Amino acid sequence: MPFGLYLHIPYCLAKCHYCDFYSRGGCKGVPEQYVDALVAQMHKFRENGTLPSHPDTLYFGGGTPSLLTPAQVKCLIDAAAPAQNAEVTLEANPETVTPALLEQFLYAGVNRLSLGVQTASNQSLQILGRPHTAAQSRAAFADAKRVGFTNISGDIMMALPNYSTEEFDQTLDLIAGGGATHISAYLLKIEENTVFGKRPPQNLPTEDQAADFYLYGVEQLSKAGFAQYEISNFSRPGFEGKHNLIYWNCQDYLGLGPAAHSCVKQQRFYWPNGTKQFIDRQSDPIPDGVCDGNDYIMLQLRLTSGLNLQKLKQLYQIEFTAKQKRFIANCQAAGYLLQNGDILSLTPAGMIIQNTILCELLSE
Ligand code: SF4
Repeated sequence: MPFGLYLHIPYCLAKCHYCDFYSRGGCKGVPEQYVDALVAQMHKFRENGTLPSHPDTLYFGGGTPSLLTPAQVKCLIDAAAPAQNAEVTLEANPETVTPALLEQFLYAGVNRLSLGVQTASNQSLQILGRPHTAAQSRAAFADAKRVGFTNISGDIMMALPNYSTEEFDQTLDLIAGGGATHISAYLLKIEENTVFGKRPPQNLPTEDQAADFYLYGVEQLSKAGFAQYEISNFSRPGFEGKHNLIYWNCQDYLGLGPAAHSCVKQQRFYWPNGTKQFIDRQSDPIPDGVCDGNDYIMLQLRLTSGLNLQKLKQLYQIEFTAKQKRFIANCQAAGYLLQNGDILSLTPAGMIIQNTILCELLSE
């Protein structure tokens, strides 16, 4: 079974107006002490047998991991010791990368880049509080390809203020034309404790309009050769994100850094917020319950490959009740669910109302 290692880098140049990830804006780099703390935790978890000698995937997430220097990235990869042919992903923001930096990240062992593009509209980028332009996103793709990256993902955020299908098309053009092998496309969500949470932007699409943008996006991505494999993820054949598939397939992963989550041998735990405490080795992971059959249903239904009902029975002794089976049949008739033998999966329309469907399918 594959094992994934996630390293959280909670530093950003500026805090985007929609972002509720645990990260701090106003940072130009990552302190050495933070890198040391990550390395120390990797040693600790390897010694206690949680972290295998050679994890199958390594993911630098954030925050803005491209604020790490190539030497810091190399030091972390050396400590993580990923398996040969492991997927090693680094999230990068377009304004933070130069050709030289990208070349050194590649040389340090990063083999997959995830570029936070979001939109090709400079006006929308400004509203979102993103400190880059569409031209910088274009340049980041061109530079990444030129230095030798062959596996590049790009993010698209849909249903922004004043959103239009033209804005989606232009963003898809920028990313697909830039040579992306993978695209994450998701709807803007207004979260509490963000700038948008306190002052919602004007001219946001309604929920129905947002759902239409999602369905439009799925269709356009498919036409452009990016097959959907998860609610928000699309790829060229063979370029599905291996690290995130570990999450959705209920396999083991260890997350290190403040606010990072883990699930190992079905036991979940997470680190509390607090970068200083993490650096000072004053925080410990907090247990977060057991990953059970309901989690399995929820996570597998995110994937277009769907939920295998036989496996659900074998692994968790769960079978849907007669009432749930009637509900499934109704959802099939309405075009929200598909059942093919033992495999149950959501259609794109079903993915929009996934939470409503799950309310009926999860056990109490
Ligand atoms: S760069 Fe990413 S992590 Fe940082 S504030 Fe923006 S969305 Fe959040």
